[in-house]
Amino acid sequence: MSIAQKPINNYDAIVVGAGFAGMYMLHKLRGLGLSVKVYETGSGVGGTWFWNRYPGARCDIDSLEYSYQFSDELQQEWHWPERYSAQPDILEYANHVAERFDLRKDIQFNTQVESSVYDEDSKSWNITTSDGKTQSAQFCIMATGCLSSTNTPDFKGIESFKGQTYHTGQWPHEPVDFSGKRVGIIGTGSSAIQAIPEIAKQAEHLYVFQRTPNYTVPSNNGPMDKETEQTIKADYPAFRERNSKMPAGLGADSGRKTNMGVSALDVSHEEREAEYESRWDTAGLSIGGSFGDLMLNQESNDTIAEFARGKIRGIVNDPATAEALCPEQTFACKRLCVDTGYYQTFNRPNVTLVDISQGAIDEITPAGLQANGDAFELDCIIFATGFDAMTGSLLKAGIRGEGGQTLTDKWSAGPRTYLGLGTSGFPNLFTITGPGSPSVLTNMIPSIEQHVNWIADCIQYLKESNLQTINATDEAEDAWVEHVNVLASHTLYPSCNSWYLGANVPGKPRVFMPHIGFPSYVEKCNEVAANGYQGFALA
Ligand code: NAP
Repeated sequence: MSIAQKPINNYDAIVVGAGFAGMYMLHKLRGLGLSVKVYETGSGVGGTWFWNRYPGARCDIDSLEYSYQFSDELQQEWHWPERYSAQPDILEYANHVAERFDLRKDIQFNTQVESSVYDEDSKSWNITTSDGKTQSAQFCIMATGCLSSTNTPDFKGIESFKGQTYHTGQWPHEPVDFSGKRVGIIGTGSSAIQAIPEIAKQAEHLYVFQRTPNYTVPSNNGPMDKETEQTIKADYPAFRERNSKMPAGLGADSGRKTNMGVSALDVSHEEREAEYESRWDTAGLSIGGSFGDLMLNQESNDTIAEFARGKIRGIVNDPATAEALCPEQTFACKRLCVDTGYYQTFNRPNVTLVDISQGAIDEITPAGLQANGDAFELDCIIFATGFDAMTGSLLKAGIRGEGGQTLTDKWSAGPRTYLGLGTSGFPNLFTITGPGSPSVLTNMIPSIEQHVNWIADCIQYLKESNLQTINATDEAEDAWVEHVNVLASHTLYPSCNSWYLGANVPGKPRVFMPHIGFPSYVEKCNEVAANGYQGFALA
């Protein structure tokens, strides 16, 4: 290419989003000597942990695992106060990382990306932002998060409500005081299950509007165990390495025997119950690893589902409320929740469960809402109604690829990617933890790091090889989409209306979006890179 034809880009790469993915991507590319600009809608770093400030917001993965490993100094020096970190502590960590690696100078906050358009002549991306400016870059990297586009159902009369409304995923920065208030919360997913016990302590009365009960297990959270922390820090890289070999990339050192090769039906009823019992109070999410076939065999899954229902009936005093709280769907088919005192909260006199499974929220009224034909007077309504997961934020970024094709059109029947990293027809566009990658079924931060490292290596390879573009081939993408679907079809995951399938958003195509299994996925990514980015066309 002659000098005259060489595209003049403002940046080597533009990164969209300054959560944990965007921050590390910036740091990594800067380390390669590239010029990078990051756009972030919020006024600060942290992504999920910037927005989800609702009372009780907390990670349900051990703090020593849910953290960056790219800097050994950072992981050695940082001290997490609790086994499971609360949102303010994770946000403090994100801010510390931004400070320590001087990230803020390349992040433009309070700025939304309105369009991202591929220019076939210059082979670069033009990114137009809410401040009316357009910048170009050879690479566009979407670090927009899997659970960042909030879902508020289109309830009739929603604008008429005279009280305050909140969404758990867009919580105000200043504390909200519910004292003396009649509060309604719609939804009973992970966010609500964490928020309900905290809000119930304050509110005059809390009404919980539940369409589908979820399974939740006690967190057994507490102060960080000093001995555990010291043991892990004594050889942190080896601890990370062991976790990377686990199916979900976490939990290698839980101290429990791995029962992955054992069916729940291979052992006696007593042994099975003893295993579940031992994990119920201490294991959090890893109760799902009690036996290897819980997500493969419905009969096996029924045993843990019945165990969990037994726990609910044992905790909740009112039998009708207990029954309404008992889920019927496959255990952990919807994301398993982890709580602190959730079921106990329904024994409080100021908490009412409103089962709308056979009815609906009929409408929101100026004074509250009407559900199942009954009127509820409320001062505040909280929408704990989740997210347009995995694709929502990508589709909002106005992405157009070759031939002017929009990503929305390309994904009209569901997301199509190769490795969850790229999508054909959109050269030099990378997605961090995109649909088709393990992402939400794993420990997100190590998954983010694996993607960032892969993308950075790829960009370095292209630069060193004097190559201008990388584009997934249709064949590789078709085969990958098929592979992700086949993996899911061998499990019980497709058997319920989860957000993994897009089933929580009316009209969204139903496609199981995450890749099941972390180690096999990493192996595949490494193999693709080692074979000169097999499945991608390089030009
Ligand atoms: P969610 O799991 O999607 O839950 C949304 C809730 O809103 C569901 O109970 C859903 O009922 C209900 N809902 C939606 N539309 C409704 C309607 N029109 N009428 C009545 N109810 C309606 O969302 P989330 O609780 O925000 O959690 C999303 C994900 O974020 C989690 O699965 C998890 O991956 C992540 N998260 C993690 C943590 C953590 O680390 N501890 C905490 C919070 C969130 P149906 O089930 O009937 O659809």
